[in-house]
Amino acid sequence: MHYNIQRVLAYVGIGSNLGDPVSIVRDALICLDHIPDSQVKKYSSLYQSEPISDIPQDDFINAIAGIETSLQPTALLLELQSIEDAFYRRRDPALKWAPRTLDLDIILYGEHTIDNGQLSVPHPEMANRLFVLQPLMEIAGDIQIPGLGDLQHLVDSAPVIEISKIDC
Ligand code: ATP
Ligand code: CA
Ligand code: CA
Repeated sequence: MHYNIQRVLAYVGIGSNLGDPVSIVRDALICLDHIPDSQVKKYSSLYQSEPISDIPQDDFINAIAGIETSLQPTALLLELQSIEDAFYRRRDPALKWAPRTLDLDIILYGEHTIDNGQLSVPHPEMANRLFVLQPLMEIAGDIQIPGLGDLQHLVDSAPVIEISKIDC
């Protein structure tokens, strides 16, 4: 399906817990701004969060970027995957929720709901992930999430994890 819209504000979740995660997240923000037909309009602070996984691993550094784009959602996903590749992200289905140098997820694509096998937006796990909701709250406070409602309400009801803004 094509979205006949000039420019959309998409929110991209950024996560890293391998290598030098703070530098990787910062560098990823610069790469996001270089995606064709797209511009980073706002971005959150960096947050440190405990991993949600059965695999023991280091804490994550997370952030969210608001990107104005005229790319279709699947084209945006391909751009995000090529940035992940540039940071040597390993792709192995057996490594689901394993440590990673860089993970870039489309959390929101304007107010659209997408479910096409390759992409689910809003990101289906966002309501369960304070490491997505908290930085999103910082830069997009009063938005409504398609199918889920008020962002503040989602923040208040999400499972509690250890998460804190980092100074850097
Ligand atoms: P999770 O999706 O639970 O955060 P993950 O980020 O570790 O897990 P990946 O291995 O990075 O999962 O991605 C697996 C596939 O998820 C991708 O190939 C992509 O096609 C698909 N996908 C579906 N919806 C999205 C989305 N909103 N953003 C990014 N990828 C998505
Ligand atoms: Ca993810
Ligand atoms: Ca991902």
